[in-house]
Amino acid sequence: MLDKDCIFCKILRKEIPSEIVFEDEDLLGFKDANPQAPVHELFIPRIHIETINDVDREGAGLLGRLFVAAVERAKAVGLSEEGYRLVLNCGRGAGQTVFHIHLHLLGGRPLSWPPG
Ligand code: AMP
Ligand code: ZN
Repeated sequence: MLDKDCIFCKILRKEIPSEIVFEDEDLLGFKDANPQAPVHELFIPRIHIETINDVDREGAGLLGRLFVAAVERAKAVGLSEEGYRLVLNCGRGAGQTVFHIHLHLLGGRPLSWPPG
């Protein structure tokens, strides 16, 4: 279920430190180490899934909970009125650098669109 070389699996195993903001039995949320906005957090499943291409209908519930966890966190830190962005990059061409699915929560500053 976990990958020995994956940096996010290492965070799940507590082999490397992280600033945890959310935890439940299936998901972990933690602060991004290189924040692109005042609020920049990552929400990941506790199982190693490389990209969203690897998710089928059976995984829809887990993905839904991932989004709801990020939305609840956005509300908890007061971003629901001003707005925030949820981003899930798929593949190198889209900027994915860690191949363990993660949903970015970004907010706390104006976010331009399109992202470029
Ligand atoms: P992506 O480009 O969508 O794959 O995003 C990967 C994100 O993981 C980047 O925003 C990195 O700053 C972040 N990141 C990489 N290593 C760590 C780490 N050890 N702890 C927290 N965030 C990390
Ligand atoms: Zn992993």
